[in-house]
Amino acid sequence: MIRQYLEIKSDHMEDLLFYRMGDFYELFFDDAIRAAELLDITLTSRGESNGKPIPMCGVPHHAANGYLARLVKKGIRVAICEQVGDPATSKGPVERKVERIVTAGTLTDEILQDATDESTLLGICEHRGIYGIALLNLAAGELSISTTNGIDSVIAEIARYQPSEILTTKTLNDSIGSDFQCRNLDSLHFDNDLGLRKLTGHFGTIDLSIFDVEANHPAIGAAAAILDYAKQLQRNDLTYIKKLAISKENDLLTLDYRSRLNLEIDQRIDGSSTNTLFSLLNLTQTPMGGRLLRRWLRSPIRSRAEIIRRQDAVSALKLNNLDQLQAVLSKIGDIERIVSRIGLGSALPRDMTKLRDALKLFPQIREKCGNDTPMLQDLASKLADFKELLKHLSVALVESPPLAIRDGGVIADGYNEELDQLRQANSTSSSWLQSMEEQERLRTGINNLKISYNRVHGYYIEISKVAANQNQLPTEYVRRQTLKNAERYITPELKVFEEKALASASEALMLETELFQQVIEKTSEDIDNLADAASSIAQIDVLSNLAERSTTLDLTPPELTETREFKITGGWHPVVADTSKEPFVPNDLNFGTDASMLIITGPNMGGKSTYMRQAALIALLAHTGSHVPAAHAQIGPIDRIFTRIGAADDLTAGRSTFMVEMMETAHIVRNASENSLILLDEIGRGTSTYDGLALAWATASFLINDIKAHTLFATHYFELTTMPKEFSGCKNIHLDAIESNGGIVFLHKIKEGPANQSYGLEVAKLAGMPSDILNQAQNKLSDLEQENPIQTLAQDSSPKRPTSSDQDLLILLKQKIEAISVDDLTPREALSIIYQLQTILPNKK
Ligand code: ATP
Repeated sequence: MIRQYLEIKSDHMEDLLFYRMGDFYELFFDDAIRAAELLDITLTSRGESNGKPIPMCGVPHHAANGYLARLVKKGIRVAICEQVGDPATSKGPVERKVERIVTAGTLTDEILQDATDESTLLGICEHRGIYGIALLNLAAGELSISTTNGIDSVIAEIARYQPSEILTTKTLNDSIGSDFQCRNLDSLHFDNDLGLRKLTGHFGTIDLSIFDVEANHPAIGAAAAILDYAKQLQRNDLTYIKKLAISKENDLLTLDYRSRLNLEIDQRIDGSSTNTLFSLLNLTQTPMGGRLLRRWLRSPIRSRAEIIRRQDAVSALKLNNLDQLQAVLSKIGDIERIVSRIGLGSALPRDMTKLRDALKLFPQIREKCGNDTPMLQDLASKLADFKELLKHLSVALVESPPLAIRDGGVIADGYNEELDQLRQANSTSSSWLQSMEEQERLRTGINNLKISYNRVHGYYIEISKVAANQNQLPTEYVRRQTLKNAERYITPELKVFEEKALASASEALMLETELFQQVIEKTSEDIDNLADAASSIAQIDVLSNLAERSTTLDLTPPELTETREFKITGGWHPVVADTSKEPFVPNDLNFGTDASMLIITGPNMGGKSTYMRQAALIALLAHTGSHVPAAHAQIGPIDRIFTRIGAADDLTAGRSTFMVEMMETAHIVRNASENSLILLDEIGRGTSTYDGLALAWATASFLINDIKAHTLFATHYFELTTMPKEFSGCKNIHLDAIESNGGIVFLHKIKEGPANQSYGLEVAKLAGMPSDILNQAQNKLSDLEQENPIQTLAQDSSPKRPTSSDQDLLILLKQKIEAISVDDLTPREALSIIYQLQTILPNKK
């Protein structure tokens, strides 16, 4: 057996080999040592090789999926080797074969069942100086391609798709860097001509023109490489992948890799997934809806018409009875995955009954989502009745089948006459057994005698030990097994019965397997329509979820203008507002017609980063078709969002904080256009004051004069607040704070003009800096300010530093309240003012 094992293993040196032995998958030698550690399972040994015990560990066959999921998540490939020969007729070890290889990017089956996580495989190649990208989602049966220029954009695409596995060439892998793990293939696999032949062979077409793909499309090599790889691993032709979708870079609002991390769309910077935009918005009712929402958030679109289509559908659904629609959706399950398992021929009995039960609900979904907008009409039209299919599944399958077809009892009575007859024979057998039991009880006088069956010993007569000893048993009783309290016997008559019964049971099972296969085949005739219906339901789920979120979170449909507008009234950061205990202070944002850059000053902790991020999130949400967290928003076309927020060392890649900062800034100024939205949080802080200030100034002036993109520029360099004097495309705004009883109170409210204080020392005090250091810092600050007074607009225009008396603070707040007309006050703003008053007044009146 070990010889057989080693022979198979020699073809799978880089994979872990799961070697099937009875009810277990066993691992040997180094594989065993590695798996035992990775899976935290017991390492044992068996036999000897070169005089040393052979390390071994194993996992039960029925629980293998959980273990496989854990291994592939760690980037490991697992080769699944099954017993394919018949143990009864085999000489030596049963014949075994690797039936498939499981990797993170090519999961289709039970491992992924009902999971919101996706398993995707990304291929990247270079063709004539352009990068081709192909994405394969086996579980959804989707293959798509796109192109991009520059390695930064390749990295941005990886960040958008977040693939489970990446295939590329060694050269490209080196340029992509260590942030992403890629598997290298020889560049031959990505050859364009060879790829074209493979793809046309797969789709059975002369060329790829039916998909609008030209013969020299740079991603052809990548698409063919990943499709080939998946076919090899699955040992399947994947004929159910019937389309090659092409996505164009200009269709999407692009976010680069860092911006995605900074905005914490579906993952926080620390890698966790709670308190993200996705976790706040995702109350979808089906796993496929959850996956689609994540895709929408990762890939905001630029087509104004398409955004409005989605937005109108969300607004219309908001008026419907959402509870009822969502209640029906919650019963649908993951039919998208079921449809691809049908395509792969690996659907299980319960997949088919889940599909049957889902089909029954289609008319209700259609009725409850209504057809008030073009998008809803379109989606409803794809939810056909599937009357024939539903009828077929209903008569063919039992109500609740067992997990596997080998357990039998999947096909319903009355569906197939032959099967009914075999089953009839089986049930006659059971009445025959009952009467034999009666007869033997009478014959032996033993009342607790019983006839039973198990897989190992077949049919037997069981008699308690006491009765067996006390009674004279008939001579034809042959002892088969002795248990602690009982003896088991067979008789020639029982043996004859057993042979007949087992033969008809196995015949029934074979027939049932065949019939089940036919049911799958019949269903797969409808596969395209079923895939369309699954996709419609996913979209209805996302749209109704966005409608629900809009109501619950008090969101507003943004107005999408064709001109370059970006105005927000009463906007808030949805995640900070949701998680913070304190009421969130809503803020406005208005670039106006003349300004493209807003310079934001204000104390540390004042809310600058939050304000900038909320602007980006509102823009992003508007481009997914969602309603947005603002009282009102007017947003013009945006092609890209860039963010440079916070300093992140990238020591593993050999880059210092300042280096990362400059690289990111360089990327922005090289790639941004007039229609981009740029967030810059501090530039030039990681170097000497004058170098940093000079760089920040020069970058800002380049952005204002040359790029003219809408830019939010937060800075602690007060010197920059004089820029509006020199540049007309630039305005100062600041976040407010006031001092109270020697401490600082953040008002988190955006105001016109520059801040007059940075309150660095006060924030340091809040952070627990020792008073000795703070006193010394205060003295040093006074010296510095005297020696080198900073010339800012603030000093020209702002009043003296606020004093700390409560009376003055109250006057300040009173002015603040009076400045707002009561009609303009939203409940959120009112709460926030009450909260601020409470913080300031010592006795919390
Ligand atoms: P630094 O200059 O130190 O980076 P910052 O000005 O960027 O600080 P933020 O990190 O945006 O400050 O905000 C600090 C905290 O203030 C946030 O964690 C949040 O809890 C709170 N905050 C920010 N904006 C608001 C707001 N509008 N309403 C209520 N709380 C807010």
